[in-house]
This record gives sequence, C-alpha cells and structure tokens, in this order.
Amino acid sequence: MVMNGKKGVVLGVANNKSIAYGIAKSCYKQGAQMAFTYFNDAMLKRVTPIAKELGSDKVYQIDATNENDLNTLRENLQRDFGKIDFIVHSIAYAPKEFLKGSFVDVTKEAWDVAMNSSAYTLISLTRALKPILNDNSSILTLTYLGSVKYVPNYNLMGVAKAALESCVRYLAVDLGESNIRVNAISAGPIRTLAASGISDFKFILNWNKVNAPLRKNVTIEEVGDSGMYLVSDLSKGVSGEIHYVDGGYNVMGMGAVDNKDGKVILRYNSL
Ligand code: NAD
Repeated sequence: MVMNGKKGVVLGVANNKSIAYGIAKSCYKQGAQMAFTYFNDAMLKRVTPIAKELGSDKVYQIDATNENDLNTLRENLQRDFGKIDFIVHSIAYAPKEFLKGSFVDVTKEAWDVAMNSSAYTLISLTRALKPILNDNSSILTLTYLGSVKYVPNYNLMGVAKAALESCVRYLAVDLGESNIRVNAISAGPIRTLAASGISDFKFILNWNKVNAPLRKNVTIEEVGDSGMYLVSDLSKGVSGEIHYVDGGYNVMGMGAVDNKDGKVILRYNSL
C-alpha cells in the first residue's frame, strides 16, 4: 500500500463531511497512521469516533492561531510518533457576515481574523512542526478558485486563499532544501460546515455542476484520493503546486447555462 509506514497529522476534521476526513480516509486505506486535531470541545465528540474509525486514538485540541497550541502539538506528536511524514492543513475561517454583500465593506478586524486563521496558520504550523518532519515529508493545504477569479460572495475568503496559495510557493522553496514538499489542492465546491458560511452556496454548487467539463461536483472521496497522492511518495517530484480537483471547472472560459422547461443545458449546445 502506498502509505505504508507513513505517519502524519490531520488538522480540520469537524465531522464526516469535512474534506480533511476524505483525505484521512484515503490515507488510512493506503496504510497511513495518523493523529487528528479538533478545534473546540463541541467537535471532540465527532472527531474521536472518526479517529477511531481510521485506526487512531491520537486526538489533540488545537487552535491553530495560538502559537502555544502549535508548540504543544509538536510535543504531543514527538511523544506519540517520534517524527512524522505528512501534514494536512485543512482549516480556514472568516466571519460569516463578510462572506456576502459588498467586498468593499470588509473591516480591518475581519481581514486580520481571516488572514490569520486561513493563511498565516500554514506558515506557523509548518514552522512549529518542521523539527519533527522526516526527510521526504509532504505538507498539503486546501484552497478554492475564488482566490484567482471572482466568485460571488466568496469575498474576504478569496483574498485569504490568494495569500495561502502564495504561501505555498514561498514555503515550497524554503523547505525544498530539506526535501520537504508543500502543495495545495484547489477543490471544487462541496457542502461542508465551512461552506455553509458562504451566502448562496447552493447557487455556486449548481453552477459548478452544470458548467464543469465532468458535469458534476466533486466528492470528499475524490479530493481525498488526490490529497493522498500529494502526501504520498507518488508525488515526490511535485512541490509548490496548486492542483485543481474540481471536475475541470477551472479551465472554462465560457459556460453560461440556460434553463429550458426545468432542464439545464449548456448554452453552446442550443446555438
Ligand atoms: P469544515 O468545516 O469541515 O473544515 C474546516 C475546519 O477548519 C474545521 O474543522 C474547523 O474546526 C477548522 N478550523 C477553523 N479555524 C481553526 C483554527 N483557528 N484552528 C484549528 N482549526 C480551525 O469545512 P471544509 O470545507 O472541509 O474546509 C476545509 C478546507 O477546505 C478549508 O480550508 C476550506 O476553505 C477548503 N475548501 C473548501 C471547499 C468547499 O467547498 N467546502 C472548497 C475548496 C476549499
């Protein structure tokens, strides 16, 4: 199995809809051993059975914006695993009221919170865990198309994801000399807890589904398998990459839809 002998930590499992769960499940099926983190006590009761399902009793509390928590995480991982081979950073946050309406109304406070939680944590987490990363380790984060193109209501999170993607490139160079890879998956829209904060998310889901080359939305299993590839030795030559797992939607230059008698068709088909 591809992940035999690999040990890692997965941040961002909130429940069994989380993208982090999809990635962890795929890694587990391929033989990986993992620790999980949870954000607050309310999430512990969901994360503990998920960890168990995936063969782990290593579950640690962490607020990734807290440097002390990051250092404690390193100590816990060192005690339980020694060194590790991969990190999955699947976390983001922006206040809900800034994921709708006009982007121009964003406040400095909301900006700081979103940038800190969604982009800076990739840097601080990497720095904190670098001493326990094995040679040939891999770090993976999650981003979205709203970083490079306008997507309705994604607003502040789009800017935070642009920063995150840039962090991936700079970290890839810094860590490359230690033979550590840093990559991101740009996932298509998926109904999760975090996504429920984005206004009119259903519209984004429908739009993606009818316009993507594969005419469907991706699942956490599909993102999970691509994530497993990026933390495994199969992607040994890949770093600094933003890998789209979105049914191909990102390649579309035109793709407006018509709705005729309740049936959605691509407009170019009807010309
Ligand atoms: P989710 O709600 O299941 O996961 C988000 C996780 O972030 C939660 O577990 C939450 O506890 C954690 N988190 C937030 N702030 C944190 C902090 N300060 N410290 C520790 N943990 C914190 O939703 P998801 O959709 O699986 O999101 C995972 C990642 O995927 C996010 O980066 C998200 O932006 C990205 N993403 C999601 C979609 C989508 O459509 N769902 C698409 C592309 C990218």
